[in-house]
Amino acid sequence: MNTTIGVIGLGLMGTAMARQLAQSGWTVTGFNRHPRKLEDIPTAASLADLAKGNETLWLMVSDYPACREVIDQLGETGIRDHVVINSSTIAPSESAEIAQRVESLGGEYLEAPVLGSIPQAQSGTLQLLLGGSKALIERLDPLLRSLGTPTHFGAVRSGAAAKLAFNQLIGSLTAAFSMSLGLVQREGVDVDKFMETLRESALYAPTFDKKLDNMVGHSFENANFPLKHLLKDIRLFTQSACGQGIDTHLLIGLQHVLEEGVYAGHGNHDYSSLFESIVHEEPTTRH
Ligand code: NAP
Repeated sequence: MNTTIGVIGLGLMGTAMARQLAQSGWTVTGFNRHPRKLEDIPTAASLADLAKGNETLWLMVSDYPACREVIDQLGETGIRDHVVINSSTIAPSESAEIAQRVESLGGEYLEAPVLGSIPQAQSGTLQLLLGGSKALIERLDPLLRSLGTPTHFGAVRSGAAAKLAFNQLIGSLTAAFSMSLGLVQREGVDVDKFMETLRESALYAPTFDKKLDNMVGHSFENANFPLKHLLKDIRLFTQSACGQGIDTHLLIGLQHVLEEGVYAGHGNHDYSSLFESIVHEEPTTRH
């Protein structure tokens, strides 16, 4: 396969992925809507320029409107005979629509949302949740493996659905842990003892330890996965699951907590800052 790759979207993840691809030996050029210069990765002045030099275009942008805008701007000239790999987290129905648009413009589409964040992108240990044709995935295998472990879930929609299912767990587990940690702290229970017991139990998830220091130290500024994107994903999960006869009432509270976090200025902070919307600074009532 062609060894030149155009990465569209040089945000937190797109930048880390572009760097990892370049370190793995691919010739990488980046593009960002608001121009961004990186010392180590050349950038194209326009999407048209990027598409001219790169047969494979790897999208890592915020959401569905961003994906749609990029595809529309690339147009037939930028898409025909190109492969579009899309790692942005979007809904299955949105991904299917983008796939159809890409194919109608003469390109090939691979749905490839990723599980893992900046450290996993930097070390090439992301989990790539793939939806698309087996033949295309086989052709792209060396490229995909530069970023991590590819798993083929089935046709387009299935990788996006798996990704939303994983991110629903990120949100729900983090919220559930925040509530328990909050009560433990407020009742003066020894947090170390609580954690030791939790680690020995079937209730433990490694993500609890990953976020414990952030929550205890109220330190959320160093975001790998920003709260605003978790809110987007919980909304997408809710919309996608509602149409499938899955009761999502539990997520109404989580959405509310995440919205409160965004209004309080945590949108670009790490998603574990949802702790602040759950465990308020001062106890309001005592029972
Ligand atoms: P981010 O830092 O907020 O970056 C978003 C990128 O999207 C920026 O490059 C932004 O460009 C671009 N963008 C937004 N709207 C656009 C538009 N209309 N047209 C073109 N480009 C547009 O987000 P991120 O953390 O890298 O996440 C990117 C995607 O990956 C999201 O879907 C997120 O849910 C998903 N994801 C993130 C993580 C993570 O740990 N961070 C992990 C897995 C998946 P500008 O700079 O010009 O605004």
